[in-house]
Amino acid sequence: MIKVAIAGARGKMGIEAVHTVMKREGMQLVAVLDYKKMGSTLAHLDVFPESYDVPIYTDFAQLVDDTQPDVLVDLTNPHSVYEHTKQALELNVRPVIGTTGFTDEQLAELTELAARKRIGAIIAPNFAIGAILMMKFAREAAKYLPDVEIIEMHHDKKLDAPSGTGLKTAQMIAEVRQAKIQGHPTEKETLAGARGADYDGMKIHSVRLPGLVAHQQVLFGGEGQLLTIRHDSLNRESFMSGISFCIETVITMESLVYGLENII
Ligand code: NAP
Repeated sequence: MIKVAIAGARGKMGIEAVHTVMKREGMQLVAVLDYKKMGSTLAHLDVFPESYDVPIYTDFAQLVDDTQPDVLVDLTNPHSVYEHTKQALELNVRPVIGTTGFTDEQLAELTELAARKRIGAIIAPNFAIGAILMMKFAREAAKYLPDVEIIEMHHDKKLDAPSGTGLKTAQMIAEVRQAKIQGHPTEKETLAGARGADYDGMKIHSVRLPGLVAHQQVLFGGEGQLLTIRHDSLNRESFMSGISFCIETVITMESLVYGLENII
C-alpha cells in the first residue's frame, strides 16, 4: 500500500486528486498539508464527504512524523512548491509535483538533492497523456519545420506565465532545432509584448480567460504549408491517471525526473 500525502487538497486540482487517491486500490491517503488551519480532517471541509477521515496538518515535519507518507503530491502554487519539494526530499518523502513555476536554478538544486539522497521525484508540468504526446510530436515536427510559435491558453486564475507546459514544449523543441530568431530581422513591437515571450528565438503567447481549462497549440510554418498540433484538457479529470501513474512510478525511482515524457 503506497501512503500518500497531498498539499493543496482544497484546490481545484487537489480536490480531484484526493478523490483519485481515496478510490485507487493500492494507495492510502494518510494526510493532507495546508497552510491554514481549516479543521482537523478532510471531513470538516464542505467539499468532501464525512467518510474522508484524513488528518490535515499545517506542519510538514509533524505530518511526516505522524503519518510516514511514501509520496507527497503537491498541487499548490509557485510560491510554496519549491520549499515543499525540498523539504519532502530532505525528509525522505518522494515528491510528485504538479505545481508549475520552478526556476532553472531550483530545478537544478532539487535534481542534485534527489540524486544525492537517491530518492525518486517527479516534477510534471502536465499530467495529461495527450499533452505529453503533443510535446513529443512537436519535438519531432521541429526537426523538419523549425519556425514555430506556441500559444498556450489557460483559465484566468493561473498564477504563472508562460505555462509549465508551454515552457517545457519550447525546451523540448530547442533540443532538436538550431536556435533561430523568427519573424522579420528588423521587426519592431509598437506595443510591448505584442510578439510574445522569447525562448531561443521561438515565441510563446499566453492567453488567460475564464472558461478555459488548459489548452495549447504549437504552430509550425513552412513554405506554402502550416502544421498545428493542438491539445485541450477539458476538465481536471484529464490529469488524474497521470497523477496515479506518477505515484506508482516514483517509488521505484532513485532520481528526479522533470516531465512525464521521460518516463512513459
Ligand atoms: P488552486 O485551485 O488555486 O489550488 C491551490 C490550492 O493550494 C489552494 O487551495 C490554496 O489555498 C492551496 N495552497 C496554497 N499555498 C499552500 C501551501 N503552502 N500549503 C498547502 N496548500 C496551499 O489551483 P489549481 O488549479 O488546483 O492548480 C494547482 C497547481 O497545479 C497550479 O500550480 C497549477 O498550475 C498546477 N496544475 C498542474 C497541472 C499538471 O498537469 N501538472 C494541471 C493543472 C494545474 P488558498 O486558495 O487558500 O490559498
